[in-house]
Amino acid sequence: MKINGKTRTCGLVGNPVEHTMSPMIHNTLAEELGMNMVYVPFLVEDAVDTAVKGAYALNLLGMNVTVPYKSEVMKSLAECDELAEKIGAVNTLVRVNGGYKGYNTDITGLYRAMSSYGIVLEHQNVIILGAGGAARAVAFLCVYHGAKQVYLLNRSVEKAQEVAAEVNRVMDRECIIPMSLKDYVCLPEEKMLCIQATSVGLSPNDSEVVIEDTEFYKKIHTGYDLIYRPANTRFMQLVKQQGGKAYHGLKMLLYQGIEAFELWNEVKIDDELSNKVYEIMKGEMNIEE
Ligand code: NDP
Repeated sequence: MKINGKTRTCGLVGNPVEHTMSPMIHNTLAEELGMNMVYVPFLVEDAVDTAVKGAYALNLLGMNVTVPYKSEVMKSLAECDELAEKIGAVNTLVRVNGGYKGYNTDITGLYRAMSSYGIVLEHQNVIILGAGGAARAVAFLCVYHGAKQVYLLNRSVEKAQEVAAEVNRVMDRECIIPMSLKDYVCLPEEKMLCIQATSVGLSPNDSEVVIEDTEFYKKIHTGYDLIYRPANTRFMQLVKQQGGKAYHGLKMLLYQGIEAFELWNEVKIDDELSNKVYEIMKGEMNIEE
């Protein structure tokens, strides 16, 4: 990588930022495409608004935003993409006239990852486990892409109710049904897509899962776990044991990066290059599938 007077800079704003794979994703893409762009992590301890203003003043092309600023940064935007606005969180800022436009490529990346596995949302009944920030965005995504009925199960049922009320209101459709985790026995007797969006099972707690009962897994034809560390979560194992297909969240991470890169540089990354970056990510994670 040759840095000169024409090099464009992008970066990640968050706290912490030390363990991110984003610099590898973006610098590999830039190098492969011969683009004069560099991507660096920026630790922002507070005042994300000042960071965004500073980035604009320094002519930064774009930024990713991670924990804990995905919602807070929205106050500092010049414009916001419609889906990101509905979700209430952005992870990608693209330079426009007078500031940055916010997007949520976590969620468009999840959609692209699921599509790459042949998973469809349109006209489907879907189970979502969790009601935190990620689950909320997933719920919006499902409705946005025409899911029929979405069962949102969470340990604290009040949080599931809050998310359901919000998504149903914004999307103007009564399609999210909030439930307590322990009420999984009341789910309809049919096979569905299930998206695991809790933090249960995240390394080092590899043996944990929100629902242990194998009967639950008989209702799942495909399981998508947002977690990618470990790469074969207990949730995925239980889905597979009952004959379903199961996928981890590493491709979601890949595609949130690819979608951001495409927005910044107005290019389209083909499958060959996407796969090349994915192979490097798997290598770093020491995983095969
Ligand atoms: P939050 O902290 O906002 O939400 C955590 C969720 O997990 C809540 O629904 C919470 O339930 C539930 N939960 C936590 N502990 C337990 C428990 N012991 N039993 C039952 N439920 C529990 O996290 P996020 O929504 O931000 O993230 C969720 C997961 O998604 C994380 O593992 C994260 O790594 C992953 N993720 C992956 C991405 C990717 O690129 N692949 C991108 C973003 C997130 P309650 O409300 O009852 O506390």
